Amino acid sequence: FLHYKALLEKAFNEDEFVLYYQPYFYTNNLSIAGFETLTRWRSKHHGVMLPGNFIPILEETGLILKLETFIIDQACRDLKLINSTKLNTDNLFSTSINISPISFKNEDVNKKITKILSWHKRNGKSNECGLSKQINIEITESSFLENPSKMIETLEQLKSSGFKISLDDFGTGYSSFSYLKDLPIDYLKIDISFVRNLLSNNKLKAITKTIIDLAHDLDLKTIAEGVETKEQFELLKSYGCDIVQGFWLAKPMQIDELIEFIGKWKIEKEKYLQ
Ligand code: C2E
Ligand code: MG
Ligand code: MG
Repeated sequence: FLHYKALLEKAFNEDEFVLYYQPYFYTNNLSIAGFETLTRWRSKHHGVMLPGNFIPILEETGLILKLETFIIDQACRDLKLINSTKLNTDNLFSTSINISPISFKNEDVNKKITKILSWHKRNGKSNECGLSKQINIEITESSFLENPSKMIETLEQLKSSGFKISLDDFGTGYSSFSYLKDLPIDYLKIDISFVRNLLSNNKLKAITKTIIDLAHDLDLKTIAEGVETKEQFELLKSYGCDIVQGFWLAKPMQIDELIEFIGKWKIEKEKYLQ
């Protein structure tokens, strides 16, 4: 463990953490709604590591707070870059950022993000004041475990600063319908485990359809993760799911690739719509 901690500290010093972005799409016309920020550790010794291998250790050591400062800052930089180019002719794209339960427990997340955004206001040229409206904070249900009322208060502050909130991995872990009504959130992200076996399992179909209907009745939008096939997409679309994310349409990619992807998408998407 100590060995790992030292390795991760070194990784910070040597800028080995990089952001990947996975686009997500409006189900009705497959235009890009935004992209989720997913961290990779490009280790000189171990190659590219996925977050499952290092986020838990960063959480345990408290280094996650440092990582998230870096991520939020970089995500703002990249979002400004993308929204300021000619790539985007319709609405502004948004970016989703995963925030760990550990961060909510240990610091004032609203204050932290607002502060990082203010760096961009000073350094940038125009229109940064609206940046919060393009940022979607992804939280997980375990963030509510310890002190639900404090968590709700934080989310309300974030929302009044203009941020959108998504409840990630919905349907796994501690889902409780009774508290859904109290949460100041905008999106439910339907967990990949529902989508993976959707086509072959009628019970999963019923649950997924019901989650989407429930979300809509509560004025929430739904995002399905892990959509890998056209068949999964069509079924989710028939259930009224608002947004889809998954390898069928796009994998996580670095910023250069993302810019290229966005540039080609208007033509490329026609293939998927057929
Ligand atoms: P998540 O937020 O639920 O992210 C979605 C995960 O599903 C990503 O895995 C993504 O690559 C993967 N995925 C997307 N589409 C598909 C698909 O069609 N098929 C399959 N098999 N997988 C798909 P990834 O990048 O390995 O991230 C895993 C988890 O690590 C994330 O789950 C998130 O909870 C966490 N994570 C990633 N980056 C960060 C970060 O910067 N901060 C924090 N706190 N957590 C992070
Ligand atoms: Mg997420
Ligand atoms: Mg998820």
